[in-house]
Amino acid sequence: MSEKKTPAAKEKKTAKAMPAAEKTAKKETTGNAARAEQAVVNIGMVGHVDHGKTSLTQALTGKWTETHSEELKRGISIRLGYADTTFYKCPNCRSSEAYTAKPVCKSCNSKTEKLRTVSFVDAPGHETLLTTMLSGAALMQGALLVIAANEKCPQPQTTEHLVALKIAGIKNIVVAQNKIDLVDKKQALENEKQIKEFLKSQGFENAPIVPVAAHLGINIDLLIEMIEKIIPTPKFETEKPLKAYCIRSFDINKPGSEIKELKGGVLGGSIIQGTIKIGDKIEITPGIDGKLMQTTVKSLSCAAGKLTDAKPGGLIGIGTMLDPSLTQNDRMRGQVIARPDLMPLPAKKLFLKMTFIERVAANIDKKIRTNDVLVLTIGAMTALGTMIKEKGGVLEIDLKTPAVIEEGGKIAVSRKEGGRWRLIGYATPEK
Ligand code: ZN
Repeated sequence: MSEKKTPAAKEKKTAKAMPAAEKTAKKETTGNAARAEQAVVNIGMVGHVDHGKTSLTQALTGKWTETHSEELKRGISIRLGYADTTFYKCPNCRSSEAYTAKPVCKSCNSKTEKLRTVSFVDAPGHETLLTTMLSGAALMQGALLVIAANEKCPQPQTTEHLVALKIAGIKNIVVAQNKIDLVDKKQALENEKQIKEFLKSQGFENAPIVPVAAHLGINIDLLIEMIEKIIPTPKFETEKPLKAYCIRSFDINKPGSEIKELKGGVLGGSIIQGTIKIGDKIEITPGIDGKLMQTTVKSLSCAAGKLTDAKPGGLIGIGTMLDPSLTQNDRMRGQVIARPDLMPLPAKKLFLKMTFIERVAANIDKKIRTNDVLVLTIGAMTALGTMIKEKGGVLEIDLKTPAVIEEGGKIAVSRKEGGRWRLIGYATPEK
């Protein structure tokens, strides 16, 4: 930071401008003796651009997930952001007023009891950034779908995001009907009716709809109650070998640091199965430029501080011995972090069976032709592929760069329509 600022102003800017994993990574250098507690579930914050995902994240966590000046300028998220928060319940109050993200009850001033810590993954709603949202869906176990009450439902990204959740196998969602302060009662009810019809059309008719005004803090308690009831902490397979998805990566060194003081690259992401501890050997695949990478875990952290080991659910930072130039500017986004030799070798050729989605507003061209270019979301990885040929309903696709293809996983498929990437369906790999 070259501009001169008072320490307070600088502090404020840092708090706002730094993503959780990077902040987490920096804590490593300042030290933190107390054992931090990791979040137990990742909850996606999804929905159409401008419907208030980031302000809702702030209302629930007290933190902004927007992290880059370009994002702040445009008022939209362009990368996956994330923020942790802890939910509490007042032992003396009944009804939804008992639920809060604060350690003290706002109604009766009692000390509240801790329920759990959750990570929110804030997915961009901007239409050109659909593929970023899709890669984030790989590590969500539940989601908040934010729908603005003052617009007709569904808007294009509302549909795409809900379908993306369905493809990722996410069943537990809560709808936040936001900006309720901007409409009258009649409009609110009409909008709620549209939301209900839309949810039903996508098979989510049981999802609760909570009217909120994020920037005024209205009904945030009720929303927390619904999250606690509808999105349970999953039972993760911690006995299985480690597999994690990287969604961000950082170089935490200050420019001009001495070589002997340089810290290795930091990977930000979430464990899907298994556990990890300091000293573990990990493999990063498909790697960069066709080379798998192996390294050792030097440090682990979550938003609350340092960890000695980490488990699935919640976002973590993994300090490694990698050259930090490999991890700067999210270069490792989409990589799989796993126990060495666990993952299949990366492949450049894919055979896929395609299922097209039904779109509410516009029809989909349900044909993929030779030389069509597709974006495939494979786990958290976004890969560009070209259609080579179709034989017996199986598409042969050449990938621009290799990807790790897991058995049984669904691959979200997007195609450019009128200059934008649009979700058209999903595919399952054939042997
Ligand atoms: Zn109370």
